[in-house]
This record gives sequence, C-alpha cells and structure tokens, in this order.
Amino acid sequence: MGHERFDLVEHDITLPIDLNVDEIYNLACPASPPRYQSDPIKTNKTSVLGAINMLDLAHKRGARILQASTSEVYGDPEVHPQSESYWGNVNPIGLRSCYDEGKRCAETLFFDYKRQLGVDIRVARIFNTYGPRMDPSDGRVVSNFIVQALLGHDLTIYGDGSQTRSFCYVDDMIEGLFALMNLPEAPETPINIGSQGEFTVLELAERVLDQTGANAKIAFKPLPIDDPTRRRPDTSAALNLLNWQANVPLEEGLAATAKSFVAQLGHLASPAIQSREV
Ligand code: UDP
Repeated sequence: MGHERFDLVEHDITLPIDLNVDEIYNLACPASPPRYQSDPIKTNKTSVLGAINMLDLAHKRGARILQASTSEVYGDPEVHPQSESYWGNVNPIGLRSCYDEGKRCAETLFFDYKRQLGVDIRVARIFNTYGPRMDPSDGRVVSNFIVQALLGHDLTIYGDGSQTRSFCYVDDMIEGLFALMNLPEAPETPINIGSQGEFTVLELAERVLDQTGANAKIAFKPLPIDDPTRRRPDTSAALNLLNWQANVPLEEGLAATAKSFVAQLGHLASPAIQSREV
C-alpha cells in the first residue's frame, strides 16, 4: 500500500471513470448468494453497467481487460462436467438470476466489444473459490462451515448435502487469472478456471470437522431455490492454453483458511481450537 507506484482509488463501477491504465482485472461484484441477493438490482448494475464502464475505459486507453465471469453462467447444469462450449441452464427470473444473467450479459458485452471495437478481452469463468482473508460473514459454504466449526456451532447443510461443488484455493485461482491475462493471444472463448476435485457438501462438512477437530454437529436446513445440484469444471482448455491447473489439495487449503479465521475470530473461537494447530 505504501509503494510510490501504488494508488487505491475507491469508485463505484456502475459509474464511468477515466484512469491511465494498461491492464484491468474486473473482479467487481459480490459472489456470495446471500450477499448478491440482498440488493439484486445493484448486483445486476454492477455486472452490466460495470462491464460497459470498464470496457469503455479499456477501449479508450487501449488496455487489456480480464472479466471475472462465473460457473453460474451454466446455471443448474444438465451437462457434467461443464465445458466452455455448454450454453447453460439458467432461470432468467429467479433469485439467482441477478448474478447469473448479469454475468452472462457481461460476457456478451465483452465479446461484442472485442468483435465491434477490437478490445483485447479475457474472460475467466471462475468456479467456487475460497481461502484466507475471506470475510467470515461472507455466507458461502466454506467460510460458513469453518466459522461454525471454530465457534462450536452446528454446521448448516442446505438440503441433504448431496449437491456437489469443486473448491479452488485462492492462490491457484490467482495464478490461473494471471496466466490468462498474460497469454499473448486472446482465446476465442471464455476459459474455465477452477478445481477438478468435486465434493458433496456433506463431504466438505466432514472434512472441515476433521480439519478443525471441532466438537460441532451438522444441522440440515432447507435447500435454497435454484441451487445447482452438480458442478465441476472441464479445465482442459486452461491446461492446454495456459498450462494451468489447480494444485492445492482441499485439506491443505482448508487448513490455511481455518488458520486465518482463527486469527480473525480471536477470542470468539472456542478455547480448545485456539490452542490447537488447525
Ligand atoms: N451451502 C450449505 N450451507 C451453507 C452455505 C451453503 O449447505 O452454510 C450449500 C449451498 O446450498 C450450495 C453449496 O453449499 O449447494 C455452495 O454454496 P455457496 O453459497 O458457497 O456457493 P454457490 O456455489 O451456491 O454459489
């Protein structure tokens, strides 16, 4: 932060901005369902108006621009694993659609700015990602389970826990995004960036309990509407084009994340856990 060539500009990307830039990573928008559903109109504006404003900036400045898209463009997928050529199965008017359709429209804008104006675009479809420095109250499954375990609360499984996700550790994700940005030639399509390791939500809960040694139980809660049943990326394009794949095993990533949460939660974490190396 103190570096002479570092500038932090706080700005709402639903409004235009002009800056002297040569690369843009557009990561704006909450990715947690409770967070993005708490103000769905703003969520959609962030994806759509944000994409327009960032693409206009890239066009004006001749900058390369990377869009953080999402596995949610595949909705509740009927094809497994999901490859980039799959068009998805998204409810256009459901509670998740502010995020799903906002991100889909952003992808359209990116490819139209490329075709019509020649902007150098990169679109990463990010699958479930977690790691240290997540907001403990983010609301997504990995942070919820770890925080619940550390506090000795019940782990809240929505539905019966048979739905699957593939969890990518943040360091792997950053390397993937970086590789995509730095690829000399822009790929013709979005690229999936995510982990191949697919787990049920119940398996994740068991791993978190093992990892933290927490004395916590599991509580089953209602499944949210339109919750995707299965999700795993086909990452062959990332491997072929970027020579990238996720490497950090779930146990290792969960351990590092739990450790950072113990530090964040401080005295709130149960004493048994504070004294134990999680
Ligand atoms: N989930 C859960 N308990 C929680 C939070 C989430 O069982 O406390 C489930 C959720 O219903 C979904 C999966 O975990 O099936 C992943 O949810 P998350 O919100 O992390 O991300 P999503 O992939 O749904 O956007």
